[in-house]
Amino acid sequence: MTTREHVPLRTLTTFRLGGDARFVIDCENEADVYAARAFAKERGLPSYVLGGGSNVLAADDGYAGVIIRMNVPGIAEEAVAEDAARLIAGAGVSWDTLVAEAARRGLWGVENLAGIPGTAGAAPVQNIGAYGTELSGSLEWIDAVPADADRVERLAAAELALAYRDSRLKREKGWIVLRIALRLRRDGAPMLAYRDLASRKEAGEPLRTPAEVGRAVREIRAGKFPDLSVSGTAGSFFKNPVIRSAEAKALAERYPGLPVYPADEETSKVSLAWILDCVLDARGLSVGGARLFERQPIVIVAGDGATAKDVELLAETVARRVEEATGISIEREVRTLA
Ligand SMILES: Cc1cc2nc3c(=O)[nH]c(=O)nc-3n(C[C@H](O)[C@H](O)[C@H](O)COP(=O)(O)OP(=O)(O)OC[C@H]3O[C@@H](n4cnc5c(N)ncnc54)[C@H](O)[C@@H]3O)c2cc1C
Repeated sequence: MTTREHVPLRTLTTFRLGGDARFVIDCENEADVYAARAFAKERGLPSYVLGGGSNVLAADDGYAGVIIRMNVPGIAEEAVAEDAARLIAGAGVSWDTLVAEAARRGLWGVENLAGIPGTAGAAPVQNIGAYGTELSGSLEWIDAVPADADRVERLAAAELALAYRDSRLKREKGWIVLRIALRLRRDGAPMLAYRDLASRKEAGEPLRTPAEVGRAVREIRAGKFPDLSVSGTAGSFFKNPVIRSAEAKALAERYPGLPVYPADEETSKVSLAWILDCVLDARGLSVGGARLFERQPIVIVAGDGATAKDVELLAETVARRVEEATGISIEREVRTLA
């Protein structure tokens, strides 16, 4: 366990924004987590759990508390059946490293989630998803420390209320994930329904193994998202709105071409990127150094000289304009580090 003082949050987050954190404690195991929480409590300071910092916006005036940074390492495989295996990963393992490990072992289930930044421990928090797959399809259980006690609880995926970019871990404060377990298949098949993958398949690209699908997904993503080594971003800043299907139908009649996907019996998901692009003509809209990414307007990019305040003002402007044009109140995907 290491403790540092006055650490710039721009060095811990992919937005590369934010003032200093008063303390940052790097935790390698369960005992470190308890010690870090005790450290914060003794000083009467709040604490915030951080993984790779790829889904948070830190404030310009920093964080006057203790950042508990989850570095728990390790990946282990357990055989569970002839056609399935369990991969257990420490919260600090890079998510994409875990996906690559699954592929190396010929295990199916998370290959469409290749290339998502961040850590394994954060993956269940918003039930990461991409290219027609969500973590909920493979997550078996998590080991997590509850807010009120120094103990580890094993929670089955079914207890986590995993939903579109949502989970119980997001709504109940204080859970700290120590490790996650994925149940993966040896006899899986590629899931290529998503347009970009389907067209690669049609063009004759071999997409027969988890490794081949993972590689294709990483390539597709590289063309869609800003390069993190060049630009600050936290990926999609907003969720796609899920609204009543009747409202979605009315909206699609008003704006022909609006992509609408049934979510459940009563609700449908509508494409926010399409609304920003085709209804609001908002591609490239900017406030100070923050702008909507030209190739994908649902993504906010922090350019040179940007501040967290710029991002906040841009996000507020977008939300207001979407509401004025469509009546939809959009939700943020990115979390505020506070
Ligand atoms: C370029 C880019 C593309 C992205 N694409 C996608 C995508 O396709 N799909 C998708 O779903 N997401 C995407 N994201 C968002 C992000 O990668 C995921 O949300 C990821 O799971 C965040 O991991 P992290 O370790 O960086 O979490 P952080 O940003 O550090 O934390 C995110 C939240 O999880 C909490 N948290 C972190 N670790 C733990 C833990 N161990 N225990 C309890 N709580 C914890 C934090 O308190 C915070 O609320 C993208 C981000 C970027 C920058």
